[in-house]
Amino acid sequence: MSSTANFVQVVIASPLRQHFDYLPESNSGAADYLIGSRVQVPFGRRNMTGIVVGHSDKSDIPENKLKAISAKLDTMAILDNDLLELAEWMSQYYHHPYGDTVLNLLPNQLRKGGSTSAYTQRCWQISHQGLGLPEDALARAPKQQALLSHLRAIELDNTDMATPESLLSQAGHSRATALELQKKQLAEASEESHYPKNCQSLLYGTGKTAAVDSQNDTLELQIDAPLLLNDEQVSACQLIEQHLNSFETILLEGITGSGKTEVYLRSIEKVLLAKQQALVLVPEIGLTPQTINRFVSRFDVPIAVFHSGLNDKERLAAWTAAKEGFARIVIGTRSAVFTPMANAGLIIIDEEHDGSYKQQDGLRYSARDIAIIRARAKNIPTILGSATPSLETLYNAQTNKYLHAILQQRAGNASPPEVELLDIRRQQLHEGLSDNAIAAISDTLRNGQQAMVFVNRRGFAPLLMCHDCGWYGQCDHCDARLTLHKSMHGRAPELRCHHCDYRCQAPTRCTRCQSSKLMNVGQGTQRSSDALQALFPQYPVIRIDRDTTQGKQAMGEQIEIINRGEPAILVGTQMLAKGHHFPALDLVIVLDIDQGLYNPDFRGPEKTVQLLTQVAGRAGRESKAGKVLIQTHLPEHPLLQIWQTDGYQGLIESLLSERSLRSLPPYSHLALIRADSQKPEQAMQFLNVAAKTYAASLIATNGQCQLIGPMAAVMEKRAGRHRAQLMIKSEQRKALHGLINQLIPELERSKRPSGLRWSIDIDPQDVI
Ligand code: ADP
Ligand code: ZN
Ligand code: ZN
Repeated sequence: MSSTANFVQVVIASPLRQHFDYLPESNSGAADYLIGSRVQVPFGRRNMTGIVVGHSDKSDIPENKLKAISAKLDTMAILDNDLLELAEWMSQYYHHPYGDTVLNLLPNQLRKGGSTSAYTQRCWQISHQGLGLPEDALARAPKQQALLSHLRAIELDNTDMATPESLLSQAGHSRATALELQKKQLAEASEESHYPKNCQSLLYGTGKTAAVDSQNDTLELQIDAPLLLNDEQVSACQLIEQHLNSFETILLEGITGSGKTEVYLRSIEKVLLAKQQALVLVPEIGLTPQTINRFVSRFDVPIAVFHSGLNDKERLAAWTAAKEGFARIVIGTRSAVFTPMANAGLIIIDEEHDGSYKQQDGLRYSARDIAIIRARAKNIPTILGSATPSLETLYNAQTNKYLHAILQQRAGNASPPEVELLDIRRQQLHEGLSDNAIAAISDTLRNGQQAMVFVNRRGFAPLLMCHDCGWYGQCDHCDARLTLHKSMHGRAPELRCHHCDYRCQAPTRCTRCQSSKLMNVGQGTQRSSDALQALFPQYPVIRIDRDTTQGKQAMGEQIEIINRGEPAILVGTQMLAKGHHFPALDLVIVLDIDQGLYNPDFRGPEKTVQLLTQVAGRAGRESKAGKVLIQTHLPEHPLLQIWQTDGYQGLIESLLSERSLRSLPPYSHLALIRADSQKPEQAMQFLNVAAKTYAASLIATNGQCQLIGPMAAVMEKRAGRHRAQLMIKSEQRKALHGLINQLIPELERSKRPSGLRWSIDIDPQDVI
């Protein structure tokens, strides 16, 4: 920075794609505002939190028109260079305003301008002057003399460390006394981080030691003894170990139950021994107490956990603990990828194919891809783990961009489950269940085992329909049917929209013809569990879906019941499909997968077989093989056939070659411009103009991009807004981004109706 700098460059959370120049406060110079620190600035009529991103000696705006910063919020940078550079990369790649991107990196409390000191405490230390004073110099002020002697003893005794005020007051010294000493410059106060042990976001192994000392070896780190690895696990660990301290992405492809987590734990151990930190990302529904426990019960180190139950203060504590290097392992969902780390050594993305790693609004980033960008900046490896890797990741492994370790055997003595397709055409179904399925459940329970029924929809029935006139419940705000939910907690049955959460009391008569013959069509989790409970009254039926796991503890309690291992039936949505390890589960029944096979999204087939594989993977995870029954009207569907015999692995080549034929990702790159408006047609008109006027002429000049659409979204109306989209595709990533860079200013300048919203999504996951 030049010493002549007069102006401070500040970014704020704003859709404007620029920074703003401010003057320093009256007693300060521009250089007093450190890059990466927060300031409060006047903006329009408001005061906003901003981040300093630079200094300059000239501004495009005349100096007398510039406003001054209203307050300095930090005396230190809270975002380091790495994170500011990451924000810059994201802002360019995702075409998202830089200021908003930077502020996205901060925990809520800091974004709101709050204090960084939620978890600091005042500490006291004797000053140089105080040490030089004769021992009884303050004899006439006995309280001050006592405190000074206490501080002197601590200083002479061991360290250069300040003592928390709380400890001093326990020893009978008051703050008033300390302040007196401070006035005489005999003692000094400071604010230092401290991490309360009862904080929701911070766990310390068993709590035996709060930090790893410098002489530690394996034994001191570990609580649970590690398992004896099998050969495949050994090779995977070796591959990862060879690449610690270098930038490398390693795909760890291992069937469910093959012991991927054990490989993560071994790799983390190496990282901890090297005094580094590990970041572990898990899918939204994978962050269960069970998952966290596997880390906590292995390592006796501070672990920071970012989960949805945290309040702002706890989140800040976890963030600070990671930033300062106190937390040695950081575990969290998508947004934890932005956690600052003093000394990162490894990033792990568990279930890398999971859709929850993609943020679907605002800054539409992929946490998996960001993780790799961060790893590159820090020169450390990333492990992408999955039983069903995404096609993009598999392609990167095939083309040697990523290293590839494979676990094909189930760990321990477990063997893979036996899969059977149940042809339910012309079969009599009992509440959606075939006779074969019911018989299998009955056998399983009688053998003292558990059975799981996977139903893809929560609620009672996907449709309430009039038998006389064909009327059915439809959402007023979306192009969607309403789902019937039976009464819970004494409330009347409701119709609910799963897309906008509209709710109304379920009618008892048809609203069109007044007939009382209303039929429940199809199966939801509620209906299936009712039916199963009636069929097997002597066994517990445990339903797990978004409706039954609302409370903070609810999910944990249900999982605990299941883990007791007594015979029971579990009914659930995909919430049950991932990450759980149920030792007594022997049978998995998939009620209806056919809808997934017809999904119009080009990722539909990939997602469907991933889900099937994950669900099937729950069966038989200890020493029994387990059984999986898939009910279908399409038993000859090639996807199901190949999956049954060769699993997900057997489908990879054909799924990839179809993508290649249609020139879809990973063989091309996509961007999706979405628009929506309350008035019909407006979104479509806007995108039509975008396509015809701007994009087409830009394409005419660069030629390497292709436009698809604009077209109405498959669910055209959602939450009262009419939606349309325009896809841009290119085999050259550079060409695609070049086009978008030119297109965005045109769209921002274009005249558009006031209620119209539009956004751009790079590497979109859902394209229908
Ligand atoms: P994945 O994450 O691949 O689904 P897990 O890591 O959850 O698999 O392992 C599945 C089960 O196998 C767990 O109960 C785990 O403790 C056990 N396991 C893992 N590795 C071994 C091993 N080398 N020997 C014995 N059991 C193992
Ligand atoms: Zn009717
Ligand atoms: Zn709706």
